[in-house]
Amino acid sequence: MAILIDGKNLAKKIRQKSKLECDELKTEGINPKLAVIIIGDDPASKIYVKNKSKACNEIGICYEEYILEEKTTQEQLINLIKKLNNDRSVNGILLQSPIPNHLDINEAFKMITYMKDVDGFTPASVGKLCIGEDTFISCTPYGIMKMFDEYNIDLTGKEVVILGRSNIVGKPLIQCCLQRNATVTVCHSKTKNLAEHTKRADIIISAIGQSKFLKAEMVKKGVVVIDVGINRGKDGKLTGDVDFEHVKEKASYITPVPGGVGPMTIAMLMNNVIKATKEQNKEKSSL
Ligand code: NAP
Repeated sequence: MAILIDGKNLAKKIRQKSKLECDELKTEGINPKLAVIIIGDDPASKIYVKNKSKACNEIGICYEEYILEEKTTQEQLINLIKKLNNDRSVNGILLQSPIPNHLDINEAFKMITYMKDVDGFTPASVGKLCIGEDTFISCTPYGIMKMFDEYNIDLTGKEVVILGRSNIVGKPLIQCCLQRNATVTVCHSKTKNLAEHTKRADIIISAIGQSKFLKAEMVKKGVVVIDVGINRGKDGKLTGDVDFEHVKEKASYITPVPGGVGPMTIAMLMNNVIKATKEQNKEKSSL
């Protein structure tokens, strides 16, 4: 039976480290601040931002929320981002997705200044990740890499199969795994014979948003399984993309849902806010 990768516990350790760093910044008169933009009334977004705000409070990061109406225009959104870019008291800017369909999220991300891109979604951050430079790494892939470190899971030469190619999870994961010398395959909704890929994998990272999609017969014995999916059933219960009960019997390591990748994403956001604050203040003091 698989060893459970305890994201909840690891995330707690990372938050504790961020808290120490935050306390130290405060002794220098620096107060890290995260600004979060929410547009419309998406219920899942409300839960996500509530968890982010809770983590900020725990660490001592000032959390500021900007709630915009569903009918907000692109111009209004861009104006707010520009205002936050220029506000020296704001260290990190997060645009919570999804945003209403009439708005262009990529155009909005492009407007966030790199130095405050704590989600790692701007073209500058993504580009730096691709060429292996230090940058803000998208929080979910970054959290997954921290899990590999904690459990001494070496990716060198391993066959990693990523399910899902979204800009926020699947695509940055490709770069993170490549940097660790894995051989990477990415599957998506147009992939033929998906199970042929998963059966070959030493490590599977699933981020497709389909409850219990990955079955035991689709994996080989000893596989490492990272489940990013968060799917809410009719009964309100959360499930991942993995048929956990059966896959855990074949896997060597597996993440649960909840308590796996989810808490790590928030912990890495906190880590990125502290990083952004430090870098901005380094820039200021060297002027
Ligand atoms: P997304 O933007 O909806 O992308 C889903 C991806 O999965 C797409 O690339 C899609 O392929 C692919 N896909 C969907 N159904 C598939 C199928 N049956 N077979 C193969 N590929 C399939 O999703 P996302 O934002 O990356 O999120 C994915 C899941 O992770 C969701 O459940 C989300 O809630 C969760 N999530 C969790 C965290 C966390 O912290 N734990 C963070 C972010 C997201 P195409 O590109 O071909 O459409």
